[in-house]
Amino acid sequence: MQTHDYIGYTGILLIAIAYAPTLYHLIAKKCAFNICMRRQIIWLFASVMLAIYAFFLPSIVFIIATLLQAFGSSAVIFYAFKHRQNRCDEHRH
Ligand SMILES: [Zn+2]
Repeated sequence: MQTHDYIGYTGILLIAIAYAPTLYHLIAKKCAFNICMRRQIIWLFASVMLAIYAFFLPSIVFIIATLLQAFGSSAVIFYAFKHRQNRCDEHRH
């Protein structure tokens, strides 16, 4: 692996870390406070379109990154819709 590969895989790790607090709040606390569904759906479509592009490059780092973003956005949309009426104690008032 070359230096740019390590940078790319670090970026993938940061994507996973970035989704963790939102998904934790949605799943553990069952609270969909401050989730913008429109933004998440646009993010999902953009990720899928970029994944298709990445398959044709082909770039394994770009493929993994875009699929991870698509998976993360899908999970946020799913749990935000499931818990759309719920608020945790912190966000109830
Ligand atoms: Zn909350």
